[in-house]
Amino acid sequence: EPAQPSHRRPGPRSAEWFARAAKTIPGGVNSPVRAFNGVGGTPAFIDHARGAYIYDVDGNEYVDYVGSFGPMILGHADPAVVEAVQKQAAKGLSFGAPTGLETELAELVCSMVDSIESVRMVNSGTEAAMTALRLARGHTGRNKVIKFAGNYHGHVDALLVNAGSGALTLGIPGSPGVPEAVVADTLVATYNDLDSVAEAFKAHGDDIACIMVEPVAGNMNCVPPVPGFLEGLRDLCDQYGALLVFDEVMTGFRVHPGCAQAHFGVRPDVTALGKIVGGGMPVGAVGGPRDVMETLAPTGPVYQAGTLSGHPLGMAAGIATLSQLRDGSVHKAIAPQLDKLLAGLNERAQKHGIGFLTQRVGAMFGMFFTDAEQVSRFDDVAACDTEAFGRFFHTMLDNGVYLAPSAFEAAFISHAHDDTAIERTLDAADIAFATLA
Ligand code: PLP
Repeated sequence: EPAQPSHRRPGPRSAEWFARAAKTIPGGVNSPVRAFNGVGGTPAFIDHARGAYIYDVDGNEYVDYVGSFGPMILGHADPAVVEAVQKQAAKGLSFGAPTGLETELAELVCSMVDSIESVRMVNSGTEAAMTALRLARGHTGRNKVIKFAGNYHGHVDALLVNAGSGALTLGIPGSPGVPEAVVADTLVATYNDLDSVAEAFKAHGDDIACIMVEPVAGNMNCVPPVPGFLEGLRDLCDQYGALLVFDEVMTGFRVHPGCAQAHFGVRPDVTALGKIVGGGMPVGAVGGPRDVMETLAPTGPVYQAGTLSGHPLGMAAGIATLSQLRDGSVHKAIAPQLDKLLAGLNERAQKHGIGFLTQRVGAMFGMFFTDAEQVSRFDDVAACDTEAFGRFFHTMLDNGVYLAPSAFEAAFISHAHDDTAIERTLDAADIAFATLA
């Protein structure tokens, strides 16, 4: 059971807002994990954020490792991003007609991501994954999709499939409201297990439109691909004429300025983007080779549209963000800070005799309460001590460090996490590990 100790933080104003919110908003939140269901307690209601820090309505300051679940790689309220959005807002919010901003962001994406020649902007990561799937099906004329247990692609019906254990299961809906018929063409394989994917191709190869994969699994904590896994997916897709779709909504521009595909040197056919591409505004994108992308309307028959797609404020924030990431200097500066953070965390866990493991790729990382030396499968993640995480989470929060309120989320560091922020985090961790000893 989640820990329910008495907390110094969040304070009474957050509790008041949460009680008030629950009257008009389901569960008081607009996205489930924000409700602290995994760890217990009352969520902090946020007033503002700057750099590496967020501030709640009670005036508490926290070092932030959520970063809005990924977008804020430059830190909060980056001056260039804020200024770009303010300038654009003054010119009008949305036109429903093309702007040069859309082309500028498309050009930036194409210049940074090798596999992308053409890109369609949407409004969220969910839309990006949904469009990528329809595009893959429309382009290949096939129906089935292989996804992985523990990977998340937004709340798209056909991808909201929570596999049971077993190497390969036919799609079973992960939510009431998703009819079995809608997931009948969804095949679930095991992340980091090529055999489970080969089995699916052997059984259904002629009708598999695509593999949809998070190149680093970031929705079951942080699980990098084992050597050969992504390469093996590429080979299987080539062998059977299926498309390889990388869902880089989380990894895109976070693990490398050229996305995970550049970091690992494996080229997907189609890429779904979100989070960082919008610099903190609601933007998603789908990109790939021109011939594949022109399967979309109006050049092709696969329909996709959006009243607010390519929104001027989102484009302005995306341009201001990607243009800072492009030369690689931000990623280069973040790496030694994350080195310090993870070395410090491991050192303190060891000092207190806590079974603890960290995994990282680029500017994303994971913390596992386990004695294992590596976590590479969903079952390994599920076997970690979530109760210990819950207690760690709350002691960190009480001591001014904001982690994602779930043992199954990746953590994010930003360019604004300086030595002071790292030291504060490690001081809090020393206390938090001590309480677990
Ligand atoms: N794909 C991945 C890999 C994600 O991590 C997420 C969100 O966390 C999504 C898709 C869905 O994106 P959004 O929440 O913007 O709809």
